[in-house]
Amino acid sequence: MRTQGLYIGGAWQHPDTTFTVTDPWDGTVVGRVASAEAHQAAAAVDAAVAADCPAAHERARMLRRTADLVEERAELFAQTIRAEAGKPISAARGEVGRAVDTLRLSAEEARRLAGEAIPMDAVAAGEGLLAFTVPRPVGPVAAITPFNFPLNLVAHKVGPAVAAGCPVLLKPSERTPLTAGLLVECFDEAGLPAGMLNLVTGDPGTVVGTWTDDPRVSVLTFTGSASVGWSLKQRSPAKRHVLELGSNTAMVVADDADLDAAVQAAVTAAFTYSGQACISLQRVYVTPGAAEPFLERLAKAAESLVSGDPKDESTVVGPLISAEATQRVRSWVEAALSSGASLRAGGDVTDGVLRPTVLADVPSDASVMCEEVFGPVVSVNTVPDLDAAVREVNASRFGLNTAVFTASTATALKYVRQAEAGAVLVNLAPSFRTDHMPYGGVKDSGEGREGVPYAVRALLDPKLVILGG
Ligand code: NAD
Repeated sequence: MRTQGLYIGGAWQHPDTTFTVTDPWDGTVVGRVASAEAHQAAAAVDAAVAADCPAAHERARMLRRTADLVEERAELFAQTIRAEAGKPISAARGEVGRAVDTLRLSAEEARRLAGEAIPMDAVAAGEGLLAFTVPRPVGPVAAITPFNFPLNLVAHKVGPAVAAGCPVLLKPSERTPLTAGLLVECFDEAGLPAGMLNLVTGDPGTVVGTWTDDPRVSVLTFTGSASVGWSLKQRSPAKRHVLELGSNTAMVVADDADLDAAVQAAVTAAFTYSGQACISLQRVYVTPGAAEPFLERLAKAAESLVSGDPKDESTVVGPLISAEATQRVRSWVEAALSSGASLRAGGDVTDGVLRPTVLADVPSDASVMCEEVFGPVVSVNTVPDLDAAVREVNASRFGLNTAVFTASTATALKYVRQAEAGAVLVNLAPSFRTDHMPYGGVKDSGEGREGVPYAVRALLDPKLVILGG
């Protein structure tokens, strides 16, 4: 069991008040973590404001060293993610590998922060003048992260901020703060100066509320649910915001699709980590010629997935983050069934794990269709044609990733043009993501983009310099 304090101004503090972190699989206590009060959250801002930011090449070196340390401790990180997030160990190892990449990508970005030459003689008033911009870090960043990728989504906040030269105030999810603590230890060992990274755990309202209300905090970068994200923006209108929020991801399968590829993509996107990703597949719209064969194969593939103990190397579908989450998702499935949907696979809970569930003919106002499920449930509806599919996809208040499976370039391009989403994937799982591509949503799914180079840009302002005669 790990005991973890607050990390403020380069030193660990161990206040008396703590909370426990439990393993979602068996309920064992895996950590006891400091619970900060408002004055400690404020002290972290003092430390961030006072931080002595190193030069870009030094920041790059520290990011590379941190990546190396995470890589050396990969198994410790993976087992910690498995224990506090209930993530199957194979997926947890995959997350660690990605986080190492995210940190190395951040190190590279730190070495190429550049301004721009302004062609001043483009207008008469600028003749004879030289001008250029210098990238200026915008200042302290409050970084709030969710439970589901407790390492890589923290790396996506801290890596770009360090690259840009912005001190960070980090509040990870209270369900999964231990992995974040291990990462902070790596940054500390890599020599990141005091105040550049501060870890403050505890009651979200107290910690984050202190930061939203403090004018010295310039940016709020939040990954989590739409309701919390938008309310934080409302509370801090004068700050810059990056909001990476939820979705109810949709995929379209046309009659001419490669069905094996579409089924494989649907299984991966709907059930990996029990559907607990913001781009987990939730809705599939299939045109009539493909509908029944797609459903049959999807149901069969779902039934064959290994569910159960996240420690087992072959497990794909483990427990949800909490018993309440399992209860909520199950009740949504039951409500869909009683409003006319049919059950094609799963639906039951075994050893506390909701088995991969496939529903068909689901009313569009069912919660499993219009809310974010965040569980291993996918709904498949038949639509007459692509136009109808686009209407259904776009009826959502969310718009993160979406995918289309078709052999026709014309169909793919039409979908690319019409789908309201941050990204459209053609013949690829909608949950596909690499850590350097622009990533983010439209509508209720958020604003701004992450992906290392884009996250760095969001934390810089161009300071203009004009040289007169
Ligand atoms: P959540 O919104 O409950 O919590 C996210 C963070 O916000 C946590 O650190 C939490 O402590 C904090 N928080 C909660 N209530 C708060 C409040 N009132 N004031 C201030 N902070 C508060 O989300 P979660 O359950 O941890 O994660 C799942 C959600 O995250 C899903 O909606 C998922 O789609 C979303 N998500 C989005 C992305 C993305 O990149 N778009 C990635 C991963 C997860």
